[in-house]
Formats: sequence, structure tokens, C-alpha cells
Amino acid sequence: MEAKYVYSFEEGNKDMKYVLGGKGANLAEMTNIGLPVPQGFTISTDACNDYYKNNETISDNIINEIEKKLKELQEKQGKTLGGEINPLLLSVRSGAVFSMPGMMDTILNLGLNDTSVVALANSTQNERFAYDSYRRFIQMFSDVAMGIPKYKFENALDKIKEAKGYTLDTELNVEDLKELVKKYKEIYTKEIKKQFPQDPKEQLMLAIKAVFKSWNNPRAIVYRKLNDIPSDLGTAVNIQSMVFGNMGETSGTGVAFTRNPSTGENKLFGEFLMNAQGEDVVAGIRTPKDISSLKEVMPKAYDEFMKITSILENHYKDMQDIEFTIENEKLYILQTRNGKRTASASINIAVDLVEEGIINEKEAIMRIEPKQLDQLLHPRFESKSLNEATVIAKGLPASPGAACGKVYFNAEDVVNAKNKGEEAILVRLETSPEDIEGMVCAEGILTARGGMTSHAAVVARGMGKCCVAGCSDIKVDEYNKEIRTEDAVIKEGEYISLDGSSGCVYIGKVEKTEVSLTGNFEKLMNWANKYKSLVVRTNADNPRDAKAAIKFGAEGIGLCRTEHMFFDEDRIPAVREMILSKTLEQRLEALEKLLPMQQKDFVDIFRVMDGKSVNIRLLDPPLHEFLPHDDETIKSLSESMKVSVSEIKRRIVDLDEFNPMLGHRGCRLAITFPEIYIMQAKAIINGAIEATKEGIKVMPEIMIPLVGEAKELKVIKEDIKETIDNILEKEHMKIDYTIGTMIEVPRACLTADEIAKEADFFSFGTNDLTQMTFGYSRDDAGKFLGEYVNRELLEKDPFEVLDQRGVGKLIELGATLGKSVKPDIKLGICGEHGGEPSSIEFCYKAGLNYVSCSPYRVPIARLSAAQAVIKNENK
Ligand code: ADP
Ligand code: MG
Ligand code: MG
Repeated sequence: MEAKYVYSFEEGNKDMKYVLGGKGANLAEMTNIGLPVPQGFTISTDACNDYYKNNETISDNIINEIEKKLKELQEKQGKTLGGEINPLLLSVRSGAVFSMPGMMDTILNLGLNDTSVVALANSTQNERFAYDSYRRFIQMFSDVAMGIPKYKFENALDKIKEAKGYTLDTELNVEDLKELVKKYKEIYTKEIKKQFPQDPKEQLMLAIKAVFKSWNNPRAIVYRKLNDIPSDLGTAVNIQSMVFGNMGETSGTGVAFTRNPSTGENKLFGEFLMNAQGEDVVAGIRTPKDISSLKEVMPKAYDEFMKITSILENHYKDMQDIEFTIENEKLYILQTRNGKRTASASINIAVDLVEEGIINEKEAIMRIEPKQLDQLLHPRFESKSLNEATVIAKGLPASPGAACGKVYFNAEDVVNAKNKGEEAILVRLETSPEDIEGMVCAEGILTARGGMTSHAAVVARGMGKCCVAGCSDIKVDEYNKEIRTEDAVIKEGEYISLDGSSGCVYIGKVEKTEVSLTGNFEKLMNWANKYKSLVVRTNADNPRDAKAAIKFGAEGIGLCRTEHMFFDEDRIPAVREMILSKTLEQRLEALEKLLPMQQKDFVDIFRVMDGKSVNIRLLDPPLHEFLPHDDETIKSLSESMKVSVSEIKRRIVDLDEFNPMLGHRGCRLAITFPEIYIMQAKAIINGAIEATKEGIKVMPEIMIPLVGEAKELKVIKEDIKETIDNILEKEHMKIDYTIGTMIEVPRACLTADEIAKEADFFSFGTNDLTQMTFGYSRDDAGKFLGEYVNRELLEKDPFEVLDQRGVGKLIELGATLGKSVKPDIKLGICGEHGGEPSSIEFCYKAGLNYVSCSPYRVPIARLSAAQAVIKNENK
């Protein structure tokens, strides 16, 4: 059978997203469940890919199919494109597989020309409407299909309005609009050096091409990168007959969410504008009205709309984002999709839907994007300093969160500020898709215009970024780069704070607080625990982090880095003495000073963890990291150690390494200086004894880093065991402890069967393992990895997302070899990847027992671990 590229709405359904794009699939679905959708057809994403494959031309067979469907549409509608009696007008709408709000372009009122505009005026008995539609078409077509800057048309419009003393577009009369059409055509001719195309078929083909092209416009590319959308999916094009919200006071257009996308509250949330078309609502030209007031204006249409919103929500079993238009009191649905929402709305909606019996717990778990939880785990404003802060303005609470930063007035300045390490707030009259990078880099976004469904609001909510929109209390002067209020002026580079939940704007910096798991969030997390099988531990080096992690549900510590304790101000002198000692006696003396300090750290951690496993890694980094470099510290060190300054400097030079990452570090330190690990083992076991005496159950796991050869582990383990067993015997105590190793050197994976004989557990240290598998120095890779990802040589930064095909293979090998000699060996992971959703799924499949991640990622890991089980259940 020959490939099919064009589908009428009757031929599709919601599961054909990859062929028809999200918009097209849902238009088809709505058509087939009997909702009032203007008729039309969809050109598939395959046609877009075909277009790119053929050097940006549309193949003849695809053109034929389009013409056939167009003919059918004309027959069904009883209208002809460009017809002189009853002209058919079309909308040409892009529709990618995953919705990309505002990223792609749409053309409305296609088919109008100098004759069909007259025919439209006659057939509708509404000349003003006909010319309003024509001027809109010329502008959109010129902008979207021909790339003529929008502002050229906006200037012409503003000029007429100014000359006539109008404030609103709706005040323009027929004569003004005719004049405007003339002006617009002149602009077109001046820019393109051709007349505005009068042949509707030519208009149509140019428009279709423009949609295909928009797939590769810069903002679409940025959006895809940001949202991990593959670039080879292509966009579909929807060709649909127009319905008109700009026919006068019994017409209008709007957008609504079936639930509140900021909070999740189960209440219709939306806006509409009378006598308006298309983007008028979101573009912030006039301030739209709340959807509830449609009830008074057009009760019948309102009732029908309410009915349809509930049909759609039940049908899709999720909160819907719906676009509609009312033409002379008749309601049409133009789009539905699962609405974008904040993380907290996402959780509230999923939990509510379970409680309403619409979805089950597993479905609810699968609904939440784990990464999105990040939004909820970050600080909010602290109430005391919030009360003391000065509110300078209040706008719409468009996307919740707390943000402080210096104000900047365009995307580029925000990006530059961020690169300099500043916190920045993007302040705009209103945002447009060109601002996307600035929005990514900003702490928060403030706009003076636009409603709850404006570009700024929708995109910010999608990113989980704090946003206050439509803040009409302020004047944004993008030219002079300042914000003015009644009694304040804030200049570029000055601090403000935004509360995206209240819409308040504060002058200066407001303090923030920590958050906790409560309410629906807690409920969802408990469901996650019910389904997950991986244990989720945390990386924590001190009691504070351990406490935070437990609050988020950590089940143990997977990595306690002892060196972080060494950096403490009152310890570093003793650490330095230990490193700089020339004799064993000197070193033992210094270690003796460190012992009680480390011991106290461990007792504190054992207390917090109260019976949960604690995995302690012995000293790992190269020693020179601890050494002083400035003269003053060297001098004071020389005094306390009674060694000359030059002697210390010589020692520093001696310790210098060409390649410290591959140098004298990890267990290699213990091979040359066994007394270091022995001291640490003493501190651990003394701490454990102390805690046990307090009635705390302690389960220390002692972890040796950077092992690449079983014998390394063997000799170190013997020292440690002897030390510990001596102490336990002397104290007449029994404490269960285990000794295991990091698996982070490729050779350790390859010889894991030999190593497993000496180890009670393995913890895959994927940061080093990635570094050594790729041969990328972690400290230097920043210089080139970006380019690798940009050019798609690597799909992702392997230090963020586990490279499953390479590093993953080593992990699988290590796990298999380890289990082959010790079937119940405990396996875990403690690199950055332990908190990354796709890597967690990999760990689950590789048969690991636990993952360990930073405290703030614990909920993300719990959810990902549950999703891994559910996803793989039916495979
Ligand atoms: P986006 O993907 O940016 O939301 P759409 O294709 O949904 O773009 O088009 C934007 C707006 O244009 C719609 O919300 C709707 O108001 C208007 N529009 C699209 N198609 C039609 C149509 N057939 N009749 C009337 N208005 C339309
Ligand atoms: Mg839309
Ligand atoms: Mg390491």
C-alpha cells in the first residue's frame, strides 16, 4: 500500500499523536466523540520529514492528497476556497507530537483576497468583520509565512489608532480597516518586492511550507532541547475551516483549563474576550474576562461549554486545556490537550483523580514527571521577612514559587547576568517566544501585561519558574531599563523579590525557608513507597543533611564523605599537620588530634539515622587538596608545627601531581599511609560503640574508595578489621559492621568476581566510573561536553545522565560478576546519577538494591523508583 500522508479529522484518533501531532490527534478524537469541531484534515508528521528529506519541497503525491482532501472539505462545507459567493476560509495550524506552546506558528483566515473579502462581507452581511479578518490574515501570513517583522504592521495599526484617537482595536470602523488592508499590502510589497498573493491555493501551499519550516526555527529548537523532545519527530499541519469570534458582540474566543493549573483546584479556570480572534486572548492586547462571567454574557454557550469540559476531562482522564470560539452564540471547540501545570497542581490533580475514582494509584504515580518535583523541594519566602518586606506592586499569581534577583529588561541581559553568576529577574512588558532563553536563565519573570494564560504564564508554569504576570501597577520602561511605580523607581541591576503564589512584588531581597512533605505530596510519596523496590538512600556528610533527607524519606545514608569533615575550620590545621608530617610519629600525633573530632561527627550522624544503614567512605581525595596556598596560612602553620616556611613550601611542591584525579588518592593513600584509614576505622567504631550505649541501633558500612585490584582491598580490609575487632574485644561489645568497596575504576568492574570475595557490598561510584570510562576529566570536560551535546555526538552529558550503553555495561558486568561469587552481595549506586530518573530505572533493571542521592533528590528518586517498577511490570 502506498504511504498515506493526509487524514481527515474523521479518520484519526487520540492515539495517533506520532502521525497527526497532538493537536491533530485530539481534533480527530473530539470530532469522533461528537463535539462541535470545525471540519478539516491533518497533514502528517511524515509529510514534514518527507519535506526535509526532499530539500524542503513538498512531493507531488502529497500535494495531490492535500488537494483531494481540500475538495472533500469544500463539498462538505458547501463553500469554495477563494469563492466569489460563499468563500471558505481556513486556518493552517502547526501541531507537533508534544505540545510546544507558542513555539510554532498558525495562520488564520487564509483564502481571503481582494474579491473573496467582498464575498465574505456580502455572505455575512458584516463588512467590518470581513475586513478585520483580511487585515489579520495579511499580517499573520506576512509574519509567519514570509518572515516580515510583526512590528511593521503593528506600527501601521498604532498610527491609525492614534490619528483617530482610538484606544482599542475594536473601535476601528470599516473605512479604517480598508485603509489598513491597503497599508498592509504596501508593506508586503515593499518587503517582498511582489504583490500580496491573491491565489488562495498559492497562499495555502506557502502556509503549509511555513509550518514545516517553523519546526526548525531557533525558538522551537531551544524548546525541544529544554524538554528533551527529539528533533526528528517533525510537525503535522492542520487545515481547518475557520469559525469566527470576531463577528461582533455575540462572538468571542477563549481558553480554559478544567482545573486550576497553578494549584490543581477542581474549578474551571479560564479567560475569554468578546469580539476577538485567535491569539487576542493570550497576546494581552485587551485584558480578558474571567470565564465565569461568560455565564451572564451568553448563558447557553456557557452551559454547553461546561458540559463539554466535563466530557473532555472524563474522556481523557486528566485536566484539559481547551481552546474555544463562539461564533454568533454557537460554540466551537478548537483544541484540547492535557494541560501544563505546576508540580503542586500536578500532584493535587493526580491525587484528586484517584480519590474521584477516575484513575488508580499507579496511574497517578506515572502522571508525575519526577524532575518536576524539584520545584516543590526548593525554598519559599520565610514568613517573618515576608511580613517585613515592602510590596511595591501586585500582579497576577501566574506561576508559584519564590524568586529574588536583579532586574534585567531583555532576555540577552538575563543570559549574560546568569553567566556572570548573578541571580536575575526577567522584566518585560510581555514576553514572546524569542524570550525563551532569558526565561530559562531567570530566577523569575515579571510582566506588566498579559493574563493568566499569557505566553509568560504558560511557559513559566511549564518550566516551574516563578512568574508574576499582568502587573499593571508598574510601568516597565524597556528602553531606559527601569521599573516605575507610583513612588519608586527600580533600575537595572537592583534587587526585587517575586511571590508567584500571591502575585506580590517586593523591593530588595526577601529571605527564604525550607520545605517539607505534607498533604497530597506525602500521600503520593507513600504510594510510591508501596510500589517501589529499590531502597532510596541519601548522600550526606553531616547531621543537618541527614536530617533533611530523612524528612524527604531517605532510608539510609549511601555515601558519607569523610573528607568533607576535614575541611572544617577547626580541623584543617590538624589535617595539614597530618599531611605535612615527615615521620610516622608526627603523623600519628596529628591523626590522634583528628580522631575525637571524626568520632563525634559519626556519633551525631548515627543519632540522626537511628538504626538506618550508614555507609561511610574513607578518605578519598588527593592530599594536596587540603594544603594551604596563601603565605599567611603557610606562616601560621609553620608556627604551630614548628617547621620552617620553606620546608612547608617544599612539601607542597612535593605533593603536587600532574594528574591528581588519577594520582595518589583513594585507597592508594591507605597503601602508603595505612594509619589514616586505621584512625578513621577507630573513629567509626568508637562512635558506633558510643551510640550503641545510648540505645541506638547502629549499622556502619565501611567503604574503601577507588579499588581496582582485589589485593588492594584485601590488605586494607585486614588492617581495618584487626583495628575494629581489637576495640570491640576490649570493650566487650558486639556491633555488626560490614566492609565493602566503591566500584568506580573500570578494572574493578572487569574483576568484580575477585573483588567480591573481599567485599560485603559494592557501591558503584558512577562519577569516577564515567570519568574513567570515557577518559573525560570531570574538571575539564565542561570545555567540550557542551559542544558534544549540541552537535548530538552525545545525547546527554554523561555526568548527569548515566551512559547506559557504555558505563552501564560495566555496571551490569560488575553486578553479574559480583553476584556470581556472592549471590547476596549488596549493590548500590552513589554517583550523581542516583537521583536521575532514567539512570534510576537502569539501576532497577540491573538488579541493584539501592540508589543514593542528595537529600533534595530523595523524593525524585522515590517516585522514579516506583515508576521503574510500574513501567516494567507488563514487559
Ligand atoms: P497554538 O498551537 O499556538 O495554540 P493554534 O493552532 O491552536 O496555535 O491556533 C491559535 C489560535 O488560533 C487558537 O487558539 C484559535 O483561537 C485560533 N484558531 C485556530 N484555528 C481556528 C479556526 N479553525 N477557527 C477559528 N480560530 C482558530
Ligand atoms: Mg492552540
Ligand atoms: Mg570517586
